[in-house]
Amino acid sequence: MTQPAAQVPAPVPQPTLLVIEDEQQIRRAVRNALHDITDHVLEVATGREGIDQAAAAMPDLIVLDLGLPDMAGAEVCREVRRWGTMPIVVLSARHGEDEKVNLLNLGADDYITKPFSTQEFSARVRAQLRRFQSLSAPSHAASITVDGLTIDLVRRRVSRGSGAIHLTPIEWDILRTLATASGRTLTHQQIFDAVWGRAFGNPQQYLRVHITNLRRKIERDPSRPQLIITEPGVGYRFESLE
Ligand code: CA
Repeated sequence: MTQPAAQVPAPVPQPTLLVIEDEQQIRRAVRNALHDITDHVLEVATGREGIDQAAAAMPDLIVLDLGLPDMAGAEVCREVRRWGTMPIVVLSARHGEDEKVNLLNLGADDYITKPFSTQEFSARVRAQLRRFQSLSAPSHAASITVDGLTIDLVRRRVSRGSGAIHLTPIEWDILRTLATASGRTLTHQQIFDAVWGRAFGNPQQYLRVHITNLRRKIERDPSRPQLIITEPGVGYRFESLE
């Protein structure tokens, strides 16, 4: 007699996460924060083990502490980025803007400063997993709709409701760069390189002017932007409001 297969729900695939952190107490906090997301959490305490595990297990996301006993977290980030595209969320005890910029430029996707709230940590990790899954989905979205704003990536058109919004070519390139990396903080330099192709001048000043104009056109209230968020001293992030 055959079993009625329809009654057995298909298991939801759980992501595999790798935590590289030497302090046991922080590892426990991270584990608690990730509990709702998955049961598959690998933990290692050194940078070298982290790189090995990342290569062997190919996790869906890496949580990386910057202060490791054997090597700098930034080095781990740089090495993993040579071959891995999975999101890297950095844990840092420091607050320096230069350090954040450096890490994002090395390929980290987000950073969380210790001490962190469980809720915030898990929300940030979820956002990165979602972003990465949508990037690797075969049918990559041809348009993005957020908070009533529609960005048509194929026709290069932006509209809110039935009203078309006219952007300059530079504004369009900035918006596309930010929106396709939705949820991820991009540094001034990263945006500058993506839009202008090569870096000269002061990216921060260039961008400030264009972002102000862009906000005037796409934000409901340009004085309180909800779509293009400023990360002071670091860059900008397009908020997906999910
Ligand atoms: Ca540490």
